[in-house]
Amino acid sequence: MLIGVPKEIKNNEFRIGMTPTGVRELVQAGHEVLIERDGGLAIGLDDQAYRDAGARIADSAQEVFDSAELIVKVKEPQPDECRMLRSGQVLFTYLHLAPDPEQTRLLLASDAVAIAYETVTSPRGGLPLLAPMSEVAGRMSIQAGAHALERAQGGRGVLLGGVPGVAPGKVVVIGGGVVGVNAARMALGLGADVTVLDRSLPRLAELDNLYGPRLKTLYSSAQTLEEQVAGADLVVGAVLIPGAAAPKLVSRTMLGTMARGSVLVDVAIDQGGCFETSRPTTHQDPIFEVDDIVHYCVANMPGAVAHTSTFALTNATLPFVLALANKGYRQALQEDVHLRNGLNIHRGSVTYAAVSEALGYEY
Ligand code: NAD
Repeated sequence: MLIGVPKEIKNNEFRIGMTPTGVRELVQAGHEVLIERDGGLAIGLDDQAYRDAGARIADSAQEVFDSAELIVKVKEPQPDECRMLRSGQVLFTYLHLAPDPEQTRLLLASDAVAIAYETVTSPRGGLPLLAPMSEVAGRMSIQAGAHALERAQGGRGVLLGGVPGVAPGKVVVIGGGVVGVNAARMALGLGADVTVLDRSLPRLAELDNLYGPRLKTLYSSAQTLEEQVAGADLVVGAVLIPGAAAPKLVSRTMLGTMARGSVLVDVAIDQGGCFETSRPTTHQDPIFEVDDIVHYCVANMPGAVAHTSTFALTNATLPFVLALANKGYRQALQEDVHLRNGLNIHRGSVTYAAVSEALGYEY
């Protein structure tokens, strides 16, 4: 099969859908790979690295879309890309269609087959193609928060690890899922005093087993939240209620109980945020203050570390790309219910319940 990888064109997107490692695996399996010129250049993957792995380099996105049977990307196709998709072509990428009627309409009109990373499932539960980005965001949340705590950023000038004779900073992580555990791990690594709150007792037990007495775990209630937020230097918002907007767990009134210059990092901002005072920000202008509390609310945190994020994402997507290429999409979807759960659009029809419900299409 001919697999095509166009250069990402969404604003400030530097990731790419396949690394030279993936190209090599596909070529070894007897496939051809076409990579758009300079597709990985922004993260140090030059065309020669792709050629060395066995890829051909295309001069334009049009050339990739015109010839490939399977298109592998990172972000949802932009309108110009949707218009290049051909009837029967398979697209494998993040789509996030439910809030995006325009993209859905264009994908339906293309008559292509669109498989969304974010709805592929795993036999062990969870969303295996979303998890790598949650791992990245969770780990980044502590480095972003530590930077925001510096005085020059408006923070209260606290070093999370403390020093001998001076207590470490207090980090409170709300939500102990993939983002939360990765945040906790980084904060513990820096030597901070770390507490994780969750509503899932099995999850708290897992965290307790993993980290022992170094990590404090607390059941998340209105009372524990109020008490913990009041004493925190850095609060990380990492909750998720699948399919719903994030609950607002920290109110504006609660900010008044925090020390001036404390920091809130709202990782859940892509689901609306779990702090009442959050609003989405960008890597160009990541922080703002409300009532002297510094807020960091970047909605696409993994984009800042595009190199790591590309490798983390493609490690997870490659087995599925190989299955699609080796078996053809029909057989690959028939044989793997988890990959089939990724099918959102099939040749003019919406095939994912949540998307059809959100946008009013027949299912
Ligand atoms: P997850 O499902 O692995 O974990 C969410 C956790 O929140 C669960 O353990 C759940 O029990 C807990 N929770 C739910 N309600 C709670 C409450 N009231 N109090 C405390 N805990 C509660 O999800 P995840 O992969 O860790 O993702 C967390 C959030 O981060 C999501 O909104 C996700 O979209 C977002 N995210 C954002 C970025 C970004 O760049 N900003 C990147 C990746 C993920």
